[in-house]
Amino acid sequence: MTIRSLNELIHSGLAAESDRQGLGPVVEQFAVTLSDEVTAILAKVPAEDLPHDPIARQYIPRAAELEPDPLAVDDPIGDARFTPIKGLTHRYPDRVLLKPLEVCAVYCRFCFRRETINQGESPLNETELQTIYDYLAARPKIWEVILSGGDPLLLSPRRMAKIVARLAAIPHIGVLRIHTRIPVVEPSLITDDLIAALKSRLPVFVLLHSNHPREFTEAAVAAIARLVDAGIPMLGQSVLLRGINDSAEVLTALFRRMIELRIKPHYLHHTDLTAGTAEFRTDIGDGIALLRSLRGKVSGLCHPHYMIEIPGGAGKIPLTYPWAKPLADGSGQWLIESPDGLVYDYPLQG
Ligand code: SF4
Repeated sequence: MTIRSLNELIHSGLAAESDRQGLGPVVEQFAVTLSDEVTAILAKVPAEDLPHDPIARQYIPRAAELEPDPLAVDDPIGDARFTPIKGLTHRYPDRVLLKPLEVCAVYCRFCFRRETINQGESPLNETELQTIYDYLAARPKIWEVILSGGDPLLLSPRRMAKIVARLAAIPHIGVLRIHTRIPVVEPSLITDDLIAALKSRLPVFVLLHSNHPREFTEAAVAAIARLVDAGIPMLGQSVLLRGINDSAEVLTALFRRMIELRIKPHYLHHTDLTAGTAEFRTDIGDGIALLRSLRGKVSGLCHPHYMIEIPGGAGKIPLTYPWAKPLADGSGQWLIESPDGLVYDYPLQG
């Protein structure tokens, strides 16, 4: 059952009648949708566990979303500064984000685009898309197009095929990337027709957004296999969320599950400074220590890059543990730390 309103949340037992007053203003401002697949996962969770359940917390609204948030900034990743035309973000020289629609199959409570997602914008029409194709065709440095949104895999196979064909017709575009949550939240949409729509001369990489190993239901596993078996490489991106996946145990299970399903963990995002998401934020130092704790214990295949977005649009930066440090005596010697915390001199080169 898909849930799209506070009434439906209450009737399904995912929120209490006593929450109605507190949640009313929240759902007026920020959309609520829980897909069939998500409600099926939550149907197995006892009511008393819902407030702390790592799947429920991602989608069920909380009154805290409207509490004052002194750290929050408008447009936390600076999209607006880099939007030359409607539906296109051009921040880096060789790649652009193309957002054909602003709706999703679920609305995540921590979403950094929650101010713009599902605010009544229609999908891009043919004229708007043509303006984007003209922009891309006139800029030979653009090599990669990233379909994002909203969730681009909500497009019908027919519309997707048209967009893919138009992008493939621009000679300097070398790769298409698709950011999506659909394989885990609405796996029935990964159909043969959709997969056929992605076929062109362009390699397609699907970046799956997933934050917890319990998201990989039987139907999700089958949908992912359909994509990978069709020759579509998959990468994983996750958000480090307090109380949901900020432990070595959960991250290890999440990244191992991805690898087992042939998804390479690519990015673990530090939570952005989006209004109403304070309860999900972790400390940068804790995040670096958490990723460091996996090194040596968990296969190297399972390690994503831990990334932070500088507010205002300066871009993504990797947050890495300093395993190698130069000696301060100017000798050119380096000290290298091992995963078990021992520090070694590294011999001088040449
Ligand atoms: S699916 Fe992605 S874009 Fe949509 S609400 Fe969730 S995080 Fe935001």
